[in-house]
Amino acid sequence: MNVRRDKRPHDVLREIKITYEGLARVDGSARFSHGDIASLASASGPIEVRLAAEQASQATFEVISRPLSNVPATEAKTLASAIRSALLPSLVLNKHPRTLIQVVVQALVSLRTQWKDPLVASMINASSLALLNTGSVPMRGVVCAVAIGRLPGTGLLIDPSVEECTDLDAGGCFAFIFAEGVGTRVESVWTSWRSKSGFFDESNFVQARTLAKDAAQIVYNAMKMSVSWMGTAESFELVSPAAIRSSTEKKEEHRDDDGRMGICRIELTQAVGMISRAAAFLLVQFLSIRCVLCVYDYVIIGGGNGGLVVASRLSEDPDVNVLVLEAGAEVENLREVYIPGMIGAGQAFTSLNWAYQTVPQDNMNRRNMVVFAGKALGGSTIINSMIMTRATRAQYDAIGAINNSTSWTWDELLPSFKRSEVFTPPDPSQTAHGASYDKSVRGSPFSTHPNHGQVKVGFPNFFFPQSEMFAKALIDKDHGGLGFQRALDLCDGDIRGRVGVSSDSLDVANNARCSAVCGYVTPFVNQRPNLQIITHAMVSKIEWANEMTMDGQLVARRVEYYLDGEDAPRYADVNADSGGEVVLAAGTIGTPKVMELSGVGNSSLLKSVGVDVKLDLPSVGENFGDHIHTWTSALTNASITKDVLRSNESFRKEQVTLWEESRTGLYSAAPRTIGLAAASDLLSTDHIKQLLNDARRDLDKYASQFANGNEALQNGIKAQHQSALDLYDQDEQIPVELNFEPGYAGPTPLEQRGGKNFSTINAILYSPLSRGRTHITSTNHSIPPLVDPAYWSHPIDVTMLTAGYRVARKALRTPPLDSIFVEEFEPGLSVSNSDEELQSYLRHSAGSDSHEIGTMAMMPRSLGGVVDTQLKVYGLRNVRVADASIIPMPISAHLASTVYMIGEKVWIAALKQFFVTDLFLQAADIIKSSKHDRAGPFVYKLDREL
Ligand SMILES: Cc1cc2nc3c(=O)[nH]c(=O)nc-3n(C[C@H](O)[C@H](O)[C@H](O)COP(=O)(O)OP(=O)(O)OC[C@H]3O[C@@H](n4cnc5c(N)ncnc54)[C@H](O)[C@@H]3O)c2cc1C
Repeated sequence: MNVRRDKRPHDVLREIKITYEGLARVDGSARFSHGDIASLASASGPIEVRLAAEQASQATFEVISRPLSNVPATEAKTLASAIRSALLPSLVLNKHPRTLIQVVVQALVSLRTQWKDPLVASMINASSLALLNTGSVPMRGVVCAVAIGRLPGTGLLIDPSVEECTDLDAGGCFAFIFAEGVGTRVESVWTSWRSKSGFFDESNFVQARTLAKDAAQIVYNAMKMSVSWMGTAESFELVSPAAIRSSTEKKEEHRDDDGRMGICRIELTQAVGMISRAAAFLLVQFLSIRCVLCVYDYVIIGGGNGGLVVASRLSEDPDVNVLVLEAGAEVENLREVYIPGMIGAGQAFTSLNWAYQTVPQDNMNRRNMVVFAGKALGGSTIINSMIMTRATRAQYDAIGAINNSTSWTWDELLPSFKRSEVFTPPDPSQTAHGASYDKSVRGSPFSTHPNHGQVKVGFPNFFFPQSEMFAKALIDKDHGGLGFQRALDLCDGDIRGRVGVSSDSLDVANNARCSAVCGYVTPFVNQRPNLQIITHAMVSKIEWANEMTMDGQLVARRVEYYLDGEDAPRYADVNADSGGEVVLAAGTIGTPKVMELSGVGNSSLLKSVGVDVKLDLPSVGENFGDHIHTWTSALTNASITKDVLRSNESFRKEQVTLWEESRTGLYSAAPRTIGLAAASDLLSTDHIKQLLNDARRDLDKYASQFANGNEALQNGIKAQHQSALDLYDQDEQIPVELNFEPGYAGPTPLEQRGGKNFSTINAILYSPLSRGRTHITSTNHSIPPLVDPAYWSHPIDVTMLTAGYRVARKALRTPPLDSIFVEEFEPGLSVSNSDEELQSYLRHSAGSDSHEIGTMAMMPRSLGGVVDTQLKVYGLRNVRVADASIIPMPISAHLASTVYMIGEKVWIAALKQFFVTDLFLQAADIIKSSKHDRAGPFVYKLDREL
């Protein structure tokens, strides 16, 4: 198609010419032309700002546009506002609050037609280059613009010439941001596409945008090349590939004897700019300290396991204002929280535990069960059992595979796991009791980066002899054991068929719990004026901007919350224009609740409750998975068990004193010895084969049942099940954990246990295929949501847990544990080992393991996912999730360690918003190293190693 007056094909740009003008009194300047359409821009900043335009949390960005002749009028102001909108997403404005960044852009041609888009494109491009040329205005990307026109009857053409503009019947300018480095992306940020008739043809628009994107890439490539030209007074021309080569050659000629770039013009008048900028920096020093205006770069909903990681990490940058809103209290000083041996007592505090009630569970004798979740600063890490384990390499890889992502695989996640912990290796006495580790998977001190090492992890200093007997009972096949091997490290991803002593979230220096508060907040609390934490603050919803983004995304503007005892809501504003975000970290039940109250979820469900629907995202709250916990216990003749602490008051007091005085004794630790059973440890090969065949046959049936009419999620659950069955095929699945408790654990209350001593083995269903849901039932934020884990809805779950329970029951009688076995307590001799009787017993006794996941699943949208692999909620511009709800399918681990890792991942993903693009860094380097004496003390500090 060769319809153009200048004979260009429809998809070819005219030559690009870029000149760095070195204009006086400004910090950067550039001229940009496409053929005969040219513009000249200058940029200054950060400089002093007029009081009226000053903003406390970010720099003010101003664009002034000047026509070729005459004074700027309404049209120029409209143009300036359009250019500003296009450029805004590229600037990191919160680095320099209370200052001004100003662009003045001058048209160098006059277009007497309504189609001024080529001129707008050149003005945007000139402005981008001028900003880049300052080297002092941090840019997260570079905006490149291209004009597209449509000629009646002939179609779309790129970069219309002045003559062509008079004949167009539709056209517009498209701007794209190009970012390279940690936050690599190309996204459309602005357009002015319109047609003469007013008729909008969507497919035409999409075609135009695609054409523009390809052309913008060429513009970006030209800009990239031109950057090395900064510091010279020469112009840079891109005419053809041959011209590119000749430009490169030409550049060589400008190197001086040391091989450095040639010197640019030095203007004395730039001293004026220097003075004003120095003043602005002083102002920044004094005024940008604490956010008192309730405008935050990040508002984090829920100060728990995941939320505090993100808050702490983001606030490492003093220029980033972070707010945490936590519904619970700050309870680090409560003995039941910090004394490891008092774990159960902490869980019993109703004020610290959301204790969500489930709906009657059909497969659990229609019982209303309870799912625990921590309600305090630190979330569930305040009341959890402190066990720190990780799942298998194969399970994390399966999560990556379902997301077509290499960044969610064991190898890629390991650095984030390691970054979260400061690990104390076991001493000889701990090693003698079975504690061991693999330093290649552990964090600080083996990982030496200064940023690494947050949650303190170590081994207990008190061990019960019967725990080691349990380990031996699982190992010794000759005497009835399972043939397990000793685990090197329960965090090394290789745990199938292993038994070992778990590391704990424990501050071994004083043998106290190390929660998310201890790890991620306490060390910095007085050094981070930019981190604000409000406790007793229950978030009700997120509020959205009136306008969506160009690609139809909702933008979070502010968060509504209620302080305890107050009826009127309060608000925290999000600095959305500068990349600010809301991070949801209210847990697997709390997070979908806030989403739904904010109008994001299954639209028919929301309507039925009376919520104003903002975005139909049907999988919110679905795909709920949880581990099921069961207990088998025996009376024991072991002399010391945890039961003695409950039955003997003077012994208890003694032990408390011991802990207080020397941090030793029974209260100093919560030691756990854990065995991880594969299917082959529980069932015969034929039985497993049969189960898997049946499950494959019924894939659609169960996927459809669990997906609750949600077609995409049905595919997602089917994919999850397939993945789980594949792991079973390779004997890489871990369906059951066997976890030894040196004392009683189970449903029978203390008064009915007659002050006796017990051994308990907890059998936990670790890879359930059942999926349930949680949803709001009211618009009232104080009403707990419906919780339906749909326990035991899949036959594999029933068979595996029953088999695991049977093995646990047997282990209590296996040597050497049999030496302390007196008599089975639960389930008791009245319950035989038949499937029927065991299952009947478990249906009335099993409980939640409080490892709920999956309600904001990280999966592709086509599979019913809610967040992408950057943990961003689909359809929401600036909302991420940082808690256990994103884990798409159950993993065979206690979850805290994985959630810390998730928090670290969210931090990196969110931070990318604030990472400046490599091109800016390159430009800044060139400007700094050139002999051109540029104004201002530009120092841009960036720790790029993560
Ligand atoms: C009793 C118990 C024992 C456990 N034992 C272990 C263990 O030994 N080892 C292990 O690895 N894992 C264990 N877990 C699991 C693990 O601790 C959790 O899965 C994990 O900590 C969850 O992290 P999260 O960030 O998803 O949620 P949480 O840590 O629970 O954080 C959510 C936070 O959001 C707050 N919140 C909720 N709604 C709102 C709202 N509307 N507004 C403001 N704030 C809100 C909550 O109060 C809470 O602080 C246990 C869990 C429980 C409950």
